[in-house]
Amino acid sequence: MRSIRNIVILTGAGISAESGIDTFRSGADGGPSLWEQHRVEDVATPEAFRRDPELVQRFYDMRRAAIQTKQPNAAHNALARLDAEWGGELLIVTQNVDDLHERAGARRVLHMHGEHLNAWCTACDTRSRWTQPLVDRPPCPRCGERSLRPDVVWFGEMPYRMDEIYSALRAADLFVSIGASGAVYPAAGLVREARELGIATLELNLERSQGSAWFDETQLGPASELVPAWVEQMLARSVS
Ligand code: NAD
Repeated sequence: MRSIRNIVILTGAGISAESGIDTFRSGADGGPSLWEQHRVEDVATPEAFRRDPELVQRFYDMRRAAIQTKQPNAAHNALARLDAEWGGELLIVTQNVDDLHERAGARRVLHMHGEHLNAWCTACDTRSRWTQPLVDRPPCPRCGERSLRPDVVWFGEMPYRMDEIYSALRAADLFVSIGASGAVYPAAGLVREARELGIATLELNLERSQGSAWFDETQLGPASELVPAWVEQMLARSVS
């Protein structure tokens, strides 16, 4: 097997499911997820925000409050350990807007879909750390305009920092996808890009995803079990 020095890891909602954060399709408690109680078009598009800003802000306020009560799980902790100990290049590209990778201690993290704990001022284009509700239209701490929105990438908007992601992928020897459905583009296309580049590909997921056929190997099981075991294996064969 080609020796592995540089790794790109994509994480999706599945890695945070065992921390009690709903994925798109199922609630963390087994019931309907917050997402299933709303149509995506009503809460996660720029059109929805123009049409009914209060509904959208309330939805994100609820999620922003909820993630602050959650804790990283064994999968986030294992990736933070890999980040700290891996001698080669490593990039954790996350579709998640929670901050559980950072709270576990990971540093090489890129949020391609933004972050719940940021507010974006559309008047002065400043991003500020934000833990409070936005529904009451608080002023931007920088310019004072009441133009703050959640700093999350909605459907129909361009994910962040794609150039950096593709450049990390071009230098990578291994692409790993953890708890991502393979349904949300462009993240779902990264595995195909990796294949075209001749990079080894591994998927860790609770069940087969829409993208499974594209991976060299898929391991099925909960992230809290699969990820620590995989990290252990990688560090055992670590580059020096
Ligand atoms: P998704 O909700 O569409 O799919 C979740 C995936 O995780 C599925 O493939 C499922 O099989 C897998 N999964 C569920 N529980 C798991 C577990 N315990 N261990 C391993 N895998 C598990 O998620 P997605 O592909 O990330 O797309 C959702 C979109 O919505 C993303 O763009 C993301 O920005 C956003 N989102 C984010 C969060 C978050 O920040 N935590 C939560 C929900 C949705």
